This record gives sequence, structure tokens and C-alpha cells, in this order.
Amino acid sequence: MINYLYQEQNWQSQLSDLITDPQELLELLQLPQDLLGGAHLAAQSFKLRVPRAFVAKMQVGNPFDPLLLQVLPHHLELKEHPDFVTDPLGEEDANQQPGVLHKYKSRFLLTLTGACAVHCRYCFRRHFPYQENLPKNQDWLNIKQYIESQPEINEVIFSGGDPLTLSNRKLGEWIERLSSIQQLKFLRIHSRVPIVIPNRVDDELISILKNSRLRIIVVVHSNHAAELDDFTCHKLAQLIEHKITVLNQAVLLKGVNDSAQILSNLSYRLFDAGVMPYYLHVLDKVKGAQHFDLTPDQTELIYKDVLANLPGYLVPKLVREIAGEKNKTPLFGTTNF
Ligand code: SF4
Repeated sequence: MINYLYQEQNWQSQLSDLITDPQELLELLQLPQDLLGGAHLAAQSFKLRVPRAFVAKMQVGNPFDPLLLQVLPHHLELKEHPDFVTDPLGEEDANQQPGVLHKYKSRFLLTLTGACAVHCRYCFRRHFPYQENLPKNQDWLNIKQYIESQPEINEVIFSGGDPLTLSNRKLGEWIERLSSIQQLKFLRIHSRVPIVIPNRVDDELISILKNSRLRIIVVVHSNHAAELDDFTCHKLAQLIEHKITVLNQAVLLKGVNDSAQILSNLSYRLFDAGVMPYYLHVLDKVKGAQHFDLTPDQTELIYKDVLANLPGYLVPKLVREIAGEKNKTPLFGTTNF
């Protein structure tokens, strides 16, 4: 492990001190520079971004560390594959106006920022044109009108980029605006920041969330139990102590968490922190991520073992998102692979 006391540094300074150079990342982990082959080229289209707090959870000297594999640009990203495309979920078609993605009946996504604290190499939005899609303050009235024109919407989801890269002030402003719309009952925040910079869960954020009229659900994104050290679990537990529901979604990734044992360990570790496993996504077929893909047979075998290993309440739902579908598609026991 790297000797870096990220517990003592505030989240803002951690966010402004990300590792963006693959060479520096390998040096910190005492790994040979020949692992770089093609990394700089792959990082040109989707930059390396990783917080030092996340690197501190990686194993020094291990080129197959499951956390490292999620963030280190790889030359295989440059390979073309006809099934892997830039917009695998057809989100540009669901993009009603800046920042708004309305794909499912009762809930809609607000992408308030294109920035993430970490760049996950398998991210299905790695090619998403965020800059054209961010809502500005003056777009608020249009967004409000849109929600009010769709009475079935009762939930807003802040999604990525990562909403918890925003300041508390900005988040608070958006939450207050949304609270003024009476039909809304729930606010979901999808974020990987509490995992990669646990100090993001600060007193001010907790105060904003616990005092909102809306019922808040934070959905974190962790793929491996090694991401959940004691400090990270402690921070997640702070949210739960304040009656904020915390769920986890993971992505099934070749080389990272492609075994029932690893996934079971993840579920148990989440449960230790009071977090319920929610979704296990199969990989979205986004261009540049094909080397993380598993075959349907491999996926089914792994998931069957997960079902056998774990009590039902710790088994995340295995799902695929299919462009244009009205909900995520459950996979096991269907022919939807
Ligand atoms: S944090 Fe989420 S949105 Fe950002 S790169 Fe990772 S998976 Fe994508």
C-alpha cells in the first residue's frame, strides 16, 4: 500500500490533485514503465484521471491489481470492434434538452456536470458530448416546465459525469429548486466519489441531504471489495446514520471482478458498511471497452455461483441496459444476453 494519508486531506484539494499521467501512476505503484505501451495514446481520447486516495488502495508492485485495471489506459482500447460503439445506450436520442435525459417513466436524469473524479476505462459515457449538454441556471425554468408536463415523474437522478464533484453550494441550489416541485418525492444521486475520495462525505453534504424534503438515495459505484477500506466504509455509514439510503451498483468486468468469490466478497463488504448491493451491470458495449467484456456463458456461470454463494438479500440484480427499453433488462433466466 502507498503511504498516503488521504483521510486527513479535504476533498476539494484531493480533487484538484488527481493523477493524470500514466507514468506517474506506474512510478507510484513501483511498476515497470513498459506497461505503458499505448497508454498515452489511449489516454488522448479519454484521459487518465484517478484520485490519490483510490491509488492508495491499490497493491504496490501488482500489475493486475483490480483497481489499477479499471483506470489505467490500455492499448486495447484503440482496437476497433463493430459491436462496440460511441453511444451504446442511444442516449443522444433521449436527450430532451440540455442536461435532461428522460429514458424511464417515473424518473429522469439530470447531468449537472461532465466532470468525474475518476475516469473508469469501461464507462459507457466516455464519448458523451457533455459540453453541449450541461444545464445552466437559466435552463432551470425549462427543466421545471418539462417535469411539470410529465406528471408521472416522481424522481430525479443526478448522474454523471459525477454530481458529487460539484460544490455543496451548487448541489444545494439544485436540490432546493427541485424540492419546490411538489410532484417530486425522491432524489437519487449516482456517484463514485465517496468510493474514490471518501472525504467527499463531509458534514455540509450530510446536512444538505438530511434536511431535504426529498427522500435521498445515494447509489455508489464500487466493483471490488478492495475499494472499501475501513475509512470508506466509515464514511458510507455516516450517510446511513442520517437516514440516507445507500445502494451500490457494480459493473461485471473481465480481469477485475469476474468470479463469484470476488463478487460475494464485495456484497459482504458492502453489507458491513450498511450498503445494499443493487445492480450488477453487464458491460455496455462502448467503444474502447471491449477488453473488459465477458461472453454470455461466462456471465451466466459466474452469476449462478453468486446466487448459490449468497443469501438472496445480498445478490445484486444482474441487468443490461438496452437502448429504447422502458427499464433495465434483468438477465438471469432470460434469453437477453
Ligand atoms: S465515475 Fe461513473 S460516469 Fe465517471 S467515468 Fe466512472 S463510470 Fe463513468
